[in-house]
Amino acid sequence: MLKGGVLKGYFDFIRAEYGQEAMEECQEHTRISSKDLVDREFYSTEKNIAILTWISDKYGMHELQKAGNYTAKNLGGLAHIVRFANIKFFLRKAKENYEDTFSFGKVSVLTDEAGKSANVIFKDCNVIEESCIAWLGAFEGFMEVTRTKGSVEKVKCQVKGDEYCEYRLKWE
Ligand SMILES: [Zn+2]
Repeated sequence: MLKGGVLKGYFDFIRAEYGQEAMEECQEHTRISSKDLVDREFYSTEKNIAILTWISDKYGMHELQKAGNYTAKNLGGLAHIVRFANIKFFLRKAKENYEDTFSFGKVSVLTDEAGKSANVIFKDCNVIEESCIAWLGAFEGFMEVTRTKGSVEKVKCQVKGDEYCEYRLKWE
């Protein structure tokens, strides 16, 4: 299960990037009405998968990076909080924030305090590649909203056979 705010974020992305008609088409295809979604309520993970695969089928897998980036930067309360935080503070809260929004999977963050980098490990969080790529874009979005100059790299992927998905963040 995951909170409605995430699903609404993807519909907002679709409208912003591809237009109102595309958003209506996605709602029809997935049988989800975005106006009925409540930010803080939990919805089935299948709904998330349906929206993400609709994006990749229609526009290509690479678009998920943009979708994740947009959603990360526009998550109502979260964007407001991280705007005033630095990336290390944000990463300390990442596990807690994840668990507040998603009822499945486990997030661990290994921060190298001296080296200005961190590895974020996602165990049983991603079941489709679309989701892995969306998270890559989301981490880039979190760097942007915390005004951190740096890069994000996907180094392992559970969907592709690794034990977990892993993202490496580096900053200046
Ligand atoms: Zn992955």
